[in-house]
Parts: sequence; C-alpha cells; structure tokens
Amino acid sequence: MENLETILQQALQEFSGISHAAELEHAKARFLGKGGLITELLKSLGKLPPEQRPAAGNRINEVKQAVEDALIARRAALRAREMDDELQQEALDVTLPGRGMQQGGLHPVSLTLQRVENLFRTIGFTTATGPEIETEFFNFTALNIPENHPARAMHDTFYVDDTHILRTHTSPVQIHHMLKNAPPLRIIAPGRVYRCDFDVTHTPMFHQVEGLWVDRNVNFAALKDVLATFMQLFFERDDLAFRFRPSFFPFTEPSAEMDIACFNCAGSGCRVCGNSGWLEVLGCGMVHPNVLMHVQIDPEEFLGFAFGLGVERLAMLRYGVPDLRLFFENDMRFLKQFN
Ligand SMILES: [Zn+2]
Repeated sequence: MENLETILQQALQEFSGISHAAELEHAKARFLGKGGLITELLKSLGKLPPEQRPAAGNRINEVKQAVEDALIARRAALRAREMDDELQQEALDVTLPGRGMQQGGLHPVSLTLQRVENLFRTIGFTTATGPEIETEFFNFTALNIPENHPARAMHDTFYVDDTHILRTHTSPVQIHHMLKNAPPLRIIAPGRVYRCDFDVTHTPMFHQVEGLWVDRNVNFAALKDVLATFMQLFFERDDLAFRFRPSFFPFTEPSAEMDIACFNCAGSGCRVCGNSGWLEVLGCGMVHPNVLMHVQIDPEEFLGFAFGLGVERLAMLRYGVPDLRLFFENDMRFLKQFN
C-alpha cells in the first residue's frame, strides 16, 4: 500500500512523456491491464485484515480513477495533436497562382463574325436574327424563288419535314424583319446556314451575314459605297481595289458579285485567286420588287439593296487559311493560332 503514491506519480509522469497513441495503450496495460500494477494491488486486498480492507480499497480505487483520468486526458491531447499535424500537412494556400493555366481564345469564325458586326455597326447597321429552321415560304417563296425554280435545287437543301427546312441562307431574316418593321431599315443578319455539300470550299454548315438597307433614296451607288467602305475597313487597306461583276440572284435586280484584288499576287494571278487576280467576296444587288411586295412594302415608294457574304470566306482571306474544313475539325494546333 505504501507504493500507491509512487505508482500514481509514475503513471502520471509516464503518460505525459508519451507522444504516440500506441505507446499510451501499452502504458495503460502496465497499470490497469490484467496483470497491471493497480489490478494486482486490488487482487491483494484479500490478504489484508478485514478491518483494513475498505479504507485500502477506497484508496486504491481513488488512485485507479486518477490514473484513468490522466489516461483519458492524455489520449485527448494526443488526438488533438494528431489532428493539428494532419491539418498542417493538408494545408492549402489558396492564394498561390495555379499551375499550367491556359488562356482560351475565340474561334476564328467568331472573331470574324464579331469584326463584321462591329464594322457594320459603325456604318449604322443594327443586328437582326431569325430561326435556323425555316418554312419554304421564308427561305424561298418570299425571296422570289417560286416552287420548281431551278435555284431551289441549287441550294442543296436539308429538309426537316415536308414544309420545314434548315435555312440555306440568312436572307429569310430580312423577310421576317420587313414584315415586323416599317422602312427605313438598315440591318445585318449574321448566322448559321446549312447546305448538303462537303469539299475543300464547302461544309454542310457555315456562316453568312446578310445585309439589307431599305429607304426612299437607296441606290446602287450607296450599295457600292457601303460595301467598298466595309471591305477597306475589314482588310485594313485604304487602297483596296475592287470591282462589281453583273450576276444573277432571284431576290435582287440588278444583281452583282463583288471581287477584291488578290492580296497574294496584287492582281497578277496566283493559286489563291485561281490566276484571275481577283477574289470573289460577296453577292449583292437591289432588292427585287417582288420581294418588297411579299412583305407589303410599296416598291414604287421604297428601294432597297441587299448583300450576302460568307463569314468563313472572309476569315480564310484575312488569316490566309487554305482549307475551309480546318475551321470545323477542332484541331487545337490550328485553333491556338488565333488566341
Ligand atoms: Zn492572286
């Protein structure tokens, strides 16, 4: 019994020096386990004279309780320290800069579309949009392409059902716009169009920008001025040579195609321009009276001009891209060059 105080001090000292949970359990076994020092003392109570047993028993239990308390406290302290260590190891500095950050960029077609829209905005055009699934009326009939007209076959149309098609050009947007708004009108209509065609210069989906200006005094001279100004701004060349060639479109009369001088050979002829010295950039003309009549605008009072340009075509010329399909193959080596 004289050892009790020593045992308690020994336990407290030992526990406080332990820094691992496993070691602590070993130490516990030495004091409180089956053959532990305190357990042995309790067993030896029977050897004492009966009158001494209660006091001795109480004293041993007090010491046992004190050792257990110290054990629990030490366990909690070790657990807390373990937790601290873990947190320290897993700590994350969220203010550090990221590794391998990559900056994305816009697709060259998007860049070109934005550029076209911005330039036309500076010359007073607003942007109009329309549906990509159209009726034959909006895509053809209202644009003076009646049923059985050969132009319908030329468009390589995707049919959705008997009456609906994927629009083959953005021209139907001008019909929607003229039905909802009274002249004067000055819009461009950028968007996706679809034709059943696929080779070096054709993809089943591509982008067009349709332009329309309807007013009392609009004439072919204004058309030439707007388009020449736009091309000079788009290609950043004040001295850009251009020409208008007579052409045919059902929805314009007279119709023309605009060419600009080839920048690759300056007009002497090369592979890019097919040895002609000229690059075809758009189709245009004065809005056909039949089109105006379809949307209840009096062709005796109002005149209009319209034009349609291919966005990929302009992007190819501006960036020197040789194959249209590159725009849609999602090859990162190609796309990264436009970041
Ligand atoms: Zn050329």
